[in-house]
Amino acid sequence: MFTRFPCDLCGKDDCVEIEVLRPYAGDQVPSVCRNCGFVYVPNSRSSEEVAAVWTDEIFEHAYTARIPAIKARQVYVAEFMDTSIGLSEKSVCDVGGGEGLFLDMLRDNYGAEVFAIEPSPAYCNAMSKRNIANFAGTVEQYLEQHGAARRFDVVSIIWTLENCASCRVMLETAHKLLNEGGHIVVATGSRLLVPFKKPLHLYVGKAAADSHAFRFSANTLKGLLATNGFEDPLVNRYIDHDVLCAIAQKGDLENTVPWTRDDYRAVLDYFERWHRDTAAHYA
Ligand SMILES: [Zn+2]
Repeated sequence: MFTRFPCDLCGKDDCVEIEVLRPYAGDQVPSVCRNCGFVYVPNSRSSEEVAAVWTDEIFEHAYTARIPAIKARQVYVAEFMDTSIGLSEKSVCDVGGGEGLFLDMLRDNYGAEVFAIEPSPAYCNAMSKRNIANFAGTVEQYLEQHGAARRFDVVSIIWTLENCASCRVMLETAHKLLNEGGHIVVATGSRLLVPFKKPLHLYVGKAAADSHAFRFSANTLKGLLATNGFEDPLVNRYIDHDVLCAIAQKGDLENTVPWTRDDYRAVLDYFERWHRDTAAHYA
């Protein structure tokens, strides 16, 4: 069952469909918030249902991180984390831990103490066999069952924030799971307002739109971190790299640090230019 949600970043319900994406998209076309420029799909199922899409339809059948491109981006993020905040002897909770390959690396190569929250039971079994402690379920279910009794130095959300039901809920939960002064790490390939990284049909697919409901620019990602109680964001050099990665420190939820909106007209123009480029060269 689908529910209409307001913008997860600014809270307004004033978005416009990105019409030019219609031929590439499936049942729903991503929209852009006219107030803050955030790109999202306004109609979504519950977090459990969205997690189940990934567990049942995607992970169980086709998706594996055991390919060179994914390993490379995991190494990149691990290095960015280690050089920015240090990983040795830090406790790290990876949200959407997948098969645990990222946590394997953080533990074996960087000396971190690792834990995963992952909705797929099959992946959790795989992690347990490699002695990665884990919880099978969503972050909301973890917090319901365990509260914030155990806290972590670092919460990582790697190629997962774009696929959850609510960025706000996921980031709020991460905030609760962090020690005071702890760090959140968000990495994504969904970066916007940068050179086109691929033809548009490879960026927006026909799969259920609410399983990939959010797409970030550096501004909107920093905005999400700011509005959910994180501060001092450090962002990688994303302009000429596939990965957009932000690391921010747990701060005061009541004291939002300044953030910059995107102009929704610039976002619409960006997708129109991307469409023309794809149509001209890759159709
Ligand atoms: Zn907004």
